[in-house]
Amino acid sequence: METAKKLYYSKRGEVLVKNLKKRHFDAVYCDTKEDALKQAIAWIPEGSTVGWGGATSAQQIGLMAALNAGNYHTLDRDQCETAQEREKIAKDCLSADVFITGANAISMDGQMVNIDGNGNRVAAIIYGPGSVVVIAGMNKVTDDLEGAITRARTVAAPINQQRFGLNNPCTVTGSCADCKSETCICNHIVVTRHCRPVGRIKFILVGEELGF
Ligand code: SF4
Repeated sequence: METAKKLYYSKRGEVLVKNLKKRHFDAVYCDTKEDALKQAIAWIPEGSTVGWGGATSAQQIGLMAALNAGNYHTLDRDQCETAQEREKIAKDCLSADVFITGANAISMDGQMVNIDGNGNRVAAIIYGPGSVVVIAGMNKVTDDLEGAITRARTVAAPINQQRFGLNNPCTVTGSCADCKSETCICNHIVVTRHCRPVGRIKFILVGEELGF
């Protein structure tokens, strides 16, 4: 990545870390995917039960591969063979020691926005797992909360929809039509504006473009 963009990301990342900490999140900024992976492993105790959802960015830094190869009890829906097994793993994630996820958007004042279809991901962010580790590239960061909600609705959700290919307007046009389809993936739009208990939700901001 070019130097100017790296500098831009690191300067915004430094401010955002401070603003997240003011809201009682834990947060660190990492310049590279490799540093982000080291930090994530440092925050996940060996032997713990670890689940994840909506974690494309975590996949991209190599975290799932490291956990599956390491001394952890992983709850990996991708290794399930049936819908029933996937459903059980999603429920087990709610009582995991650590839950790993991404962010659809984060505002510079330290608020996170996520959209969810079934709600299992936002449920785990809100309550249940002992800690939540959020891996987010700086491409997810917007100037304000309004921009974060707009990003989540008009960028992240329509791109995410391309993976599922469901019968929703954005599958065809690439743009959100604020649909009310039975198969809509935008059923829960959650703003996480503050963290309690202190430090339960931990952010690793990465100075690279990750996820969507
Ligand atoms: S068209 Fe529907 S499914 Fe697609 S992004 Fe908009 S609300 Fe979500």
